[in-house]
Amino acid sequence: MTFRQNHLLGIEHLHPDEIVSLLDLSDSYVDLNRRDHKHTDKLTGLTQINMFFENSTRTQASFELAGKRLGADVMNMAMQASSIKKGETLIDTAMTLNAMHPDLLVVRHPHSGAVNLLAEKVNCAVLNAGDGRHEHPTQALLDALTIRRAKGRLHRLSIAICGDIAHSRVARSNILLLGKMENRIRLIGPPTLMPSEVSELGVEVFDSMQDGLADVDVVMMLRLQRERMDGGFIPSEREYYHRYGLDAEKLRHARDDAIVMHPGPMNRGVEIDGTLADDINRSVIQEQVEMGVAVRMAAMELLCRNRGLIPGDAP
Ligand code: ASP
Repeated sequence: MTFRQNHLLGIEHLHPDEIVSLLDLSDSYVDLNRRDHKHTDKLTGLTQINMFFENSTRTQASFELAGKRLGADVMNMAMQASSIKKGETLIDTAMTLNAMHPDLLVVRHPHSGAVNLLAEKVNCAVLNAGDGRHEHPTQALLDALTIRRAKGRLHRLSIAICGDIAHSRVARSNILLLGKMENRIRLIGPPTLMPSEVSELGVEVFDSMQDGLADVDVVMMLRLQRERMDGGFIPSEREYYHRYGLDAEKLRHARDDAIVMHPGPMNRGVEIDGTLADDINRSVIQEQVEMGVAVRMAAMELLCRNRGLIPGDAP
């Protein structure tokens, strides 16, 4: 099965074979990115616009670098300073940009569903760089590539996702992807930070790190999403760290070769111990950043191929 999508809006509609073909292509971009000369001309002449309505450090930089390494013309819209501040709607802004004939639009927005809405209005490929607490598909794909390279496979693994699940689009996209690939998923966190639909997700739920981490292969930590909380979800950060923060002591419950992941930005001493995050024998956090560029290059190449913008069939 080939990668058939015209947009990358979420993991929800991807077939497992599409995920595998995207990850296979990403592997070749990891190799390219490790060379001295990292440039290809695959997307020469095509235009990529990045529209980030929410702050971002690594995702925006990663998409920008990915587009540049593929040879595209990349423009970052400064959304804080844009007409949105003057009252223009998301759709008006999108239509204005559409009139400039971009080929790829990379969008991050604080509202769940905003990116899907926008994709219906424009003529180009849209990539979701995170919409509210809904989805963050390239994060889940880069996490999958990191796991596949570290563990040699992406199925029949036991994976713990820990912390603020309720507000996390990273958790949502990862639950979808890792579930499609037939892994065993455990969610660990306080009941106040579990999504209301947790019983429909096909996962096991724990509120103790000790029980939840028992014999897992992968430990994925999440940031407390303060900006999406409108009340007291945790007693205090100190108490939270004590119960749910990952340190070497709690990690002892996982398998000896378990890897530690975090999508960033990290709150050291809140959800993860700083020394553990930097321990290159356990933590693959830097690899996640590296895989991010490769996965985004692969996704943009495949979308452009499917739209007939560049030659070649999708793998
Ligand atoms: N960078 C990720 C996101 O945009 C994770 C986070 O912000 O905690 O969702």
